[in-house]
Amino acid sequence: MRKINPDNFTIATRGTSREINRQIALNLIRTHQPISRADLARLMNVRRGLASLLVGELLSENLIFEGATGEAVGPGRKPTFLYIDSRERSVVGVDIRATRTFIMVTDLMGRQLSGVSSFPTERDFNKLIVELGRRIRQVLDDQTAPGVCEGVGVSVPGMVDVGGSTIVHAPTLGWRNVNLRDPLAAALGVPVHIENSGKACALAQVWATRGDIKASSDLVFVTVSDGVGVGIVIGGELLRGRHNIAGEFGHVPLNVDGPRCSCGATGCWEAYISNLATLSRYFGRDLTNQKLQNSEVLDFTVEDLIVRARAGDGKALAAVHATARYLGLGLASIITTIDPARIYVGGEITTAWDLIEPTIRTALRERTLTGFAAATEIRVVPAEDYPRLRGAVALVAAPAFAAPMVA
Ligand SMILES: [Zn+2]
Repeated sequence: MRKINPDNFTIATRGTSREINRQIALNLIRTHQPISRADLARLMNVRRGLASLLVGELLSENLIFEGATGEAVGPGRKPTFLYIDSRERSVVGVDIRATRTFIMVTDLMGRQLSGVSSFPTERDFNKLIVELGRRIRQVLDDQTAPGVCEGVGVSVPGMVDVGGSTIVHAPTLGWRNVNLRDPLAAALGVPVHIENSGKACALAQVWATRGDIKASSDLVFVTVSDGVGVGIVIGGELLRGRHNIAGEFGHVPLNVDGPRCSCGATGCWEAYISNLATLSRYFGRDLTNQKLQNSEVLDFTVEDLIVRARAGDGKALAAVHATARYLGLGLASIITTIDPARIYVGGEITTAWDLIEPTIRTALRERTLTGFAAATEIRVVPAEDYPRLRGAVALVAAPAFAAPMVA
């Protein structure tokens, strides 16, 4: 299962209510743990006997475990509490970006078990698969706790086909129609899930804020790195479109006469706000063109630029503010189209949020149509939260808990 879809749920209930009930139980245990069987039955609105049966199954499959005994209420046995058993189950999250690829190991709940390692992204796709397989095996071997790897989630800087195996187009890497999922799964012997970075981030956000209607019903996630990824959630569902390519706001033009974009067109939003666009502005040359990159430039990051801006480098500050203005203009288009309850923004540029927020708000006031639209809530997801890696992990972890909202 790749997505949380209430339509599928309706169909599924006809044939596999047992499976749905298991997922509801797992999801409730995840969000309410520690929880007793009695409370689980109450939240599920089912008889104690049915809840106990489900719990028995989940216990036998080691998906949950029984923990500390609670206080007895009145006479009788003290209840034991149920927890999701994430102790010996790991998930590997991978974030492929044009310049570097990042890897992190978490437990099944998405809690980080390892540091984040990274290496330069090999642009030769076949070489990257070999390198990625080797690196993932390495981080799993380095894990001290014994355990089973439940799967690998990969956030990719491009559009993924409907079947979820192939990167149809990754503009910043120049890849077209490359199957990432199957060779990597074959090399590692575990399931591999791949997803566009913006969609993966949005999915993880829905998962993390499940139960908070405002936070998870109509939201947009914008991730700014070497490129720009956008994930749109409407009514709690990820917007995919017919070919799974909906939401590519990064390649909607701000100005058709603008700078050259990685996709080959000119003036895309991404060509104005990506990290490479911001650095290009500072260095005064087009860094999206690899021939114009050199070691000085390659080792210099947007975080370095922001440090210089804070230290009083006027050129650095101007480059950051220009990005902020274009970021605001593009967000205004998204607001005009989607009218979301909340927009999350992730990426290195957000470390300058205190500097750039007023500029972004000014752009929103200029280019939206109502006061409500201009005041749309924008939340920064800090770079140290690794939203794209968390998005990658959610591809593996979230489906295990995917269930319609019942509480
Ligand atoms: Zn483009």
